[in-house]
Amino acid sequence: MEHRKICKEYIDRLAVCQVLSAEEFTYLILNYDQEVSDYLFEKARQVRTRYYNHDVYIRGLIEFTNYCRNDCYYCGIRSGNKKAIRYRLSKDEILGCCETGYLLGFRTFVLQGGEDGYYTDERMADIIRSIRDKYPDCAITLSVGEKSYETYKLFFDAGADRYLLRHETANEEHYARLHPAKLSGAARKNCLYDLKKIGYQVGSGFMVGSPCQTAGNLAEDLLFLKELQPQMVGIGPFISHHDTPFAKEKSGTLELTLFMLGLLRLMLPKALLPSTTALGTIHPKGRELGILAGANVVMPNLSPQGVRDKYLLYDNKICTGDEAAECRQCMERRMRSIGYEVVVSRGDNVDFR
Ligand code: SF4
Repeated sequence: MEHRKICKEYIDRLAVCQVLSAEEFTYLILNYDQEVSDYLFEKARQVRTRYYNHDVYIRGLIEFTNYCRNDCYYCGIRSGNKKAIRYRLSKDEILGCCETGYLLGFRTFVLQGGEDGYYTDERMADIIRSIRDKYPDCAITLSVGEKSYETYKLFFDAGADRYLLRHETANEEHYARLHPAKLSGAARKNCLYDLKKIGYQVGSGFMVGSPCQTAGNLAEDLLFLKELQPQMVGIGPFISHHDTPFAKEKSGTLELTLFMLGLLRLMLPKALLPSTTALGTIHPKGRELGILAGANVVMPNLSPQGVRDKYLLYDNKICTGDEAAECRQCMERRMRSIGYEVVVSRGDNVDFR
């Protein structure tokens, strides 16, 4: 079939040149089929093995607040959702999560939360410093949204190593359909460049299949990431939340999310690519399939059990009832079942070792 042949040619070229034009990416996204995907995943696995062998890095995710001042239309904990049951973890609770995680072999802690004014810059810096002092061999990743350059710098100087901030969509018009007017794609991108300038290992990413998204938008996402050169890229399927304006929108597909992961691996060969919980939510083997498409990171939850079911960005999120130790073992079994190994390591991007 002609389409298949062209798709494979583009994939071969992407593997060599690590970039394609917007038209070529769009063509691939519109015309791939299972055979093309399998062809891509095989190449993606070869590239990932070159830099990361069969290692899978684990990140201990601590969802420490579900308060947020923003109102992103797709998000279950947005400020406009009055039905969300809100919580915050104290510094001691956060340190308790780190302690549990350290004993289980986690060497990266990810502090994730909404944009919650309760955690002032000073409070946040104090938490970061305490984790840094207690766990000098661990990486600290932050995922707390848009801040000023000075605040990012303060957190970096306090000991944070990495920062996750998904750009969500590189297209300004599409961004405006997913967010209220006071948020802009340009401001988001500025934050990402600030983070890079300061010296963080930076993670960005986007949702696959979000409302109004086109194949051209996804191509723009890839090209934006090519320009940004982040050390990490988190992507997952869009999944609706019942208390949002997008409640009735269709979810992104497993197939397209995996395909995008494969393209990302060829485009950014050294990137840390998580196989996300959202992938595991839309398919029972989603996280394994993500690894087989080129991903190399999984992020089990270290948040206390009592709050897990309150950090719901989307519906039907998995693993909200499991203990951290169960999650850790479950992940190890899952990865072993496909020939990969969870390792005890900070799991830095190869360029940061
Ligand atoms: S996506 Fe992030 S910034 Fe937007 S409402 Fe949800 S937690 Fe807040």
